[in-house]
Amino acid sequence: MKKIKKTDVQWREELPHDVYMVCRRHATEPAFSGALNNCKDVGTYICACCGQELFNSTNKFDSGTGWPSFFQSISQNCITKKEDTSHGMRRIEVQCSKCDSHLGHLFNDGPEPTHLRYCINSLSLKFLKDK
Ligand code: FE
Repeated sequence: MKKIKKTDVQWREELPHDVYMVCRRHATEPAFSGALNNCKDVGTYICACCGQELFNSTNKFDSGTGWPSFFQSISQNCITKKEDTSHGMRRIEVQCSKCDSHLGHLFNDGPEPTHLRYCINSLSLKFLKDK
């Protein structure tokens, strides 16, 4: 996979401000604020910064947290995991492997069959509905 590298200035210029703050500055959107939190349509969730496919709607579930939640990613290599010790917590941050966009965090309290919960900012995703 060819990595996408852009400067902070480039990202700031091409992304909407709220998307930039989440994806490139690790902000978290307010719970229940995201347009894709309640999305139940069939399709594919892609990276808002680079368009890489990240999650399939069949792996989305309602976690009740207020953020789009998935029990697995679309492939093994589309996500990069990083230890995140900010805000006095020890969490696993998940990023898009192609452009290093901050997506959200990974927890191990998800449903069957993986018991994983990818807790993802709606702003870091775009949704492509199946035709
Ligand atoms: Fe990306």
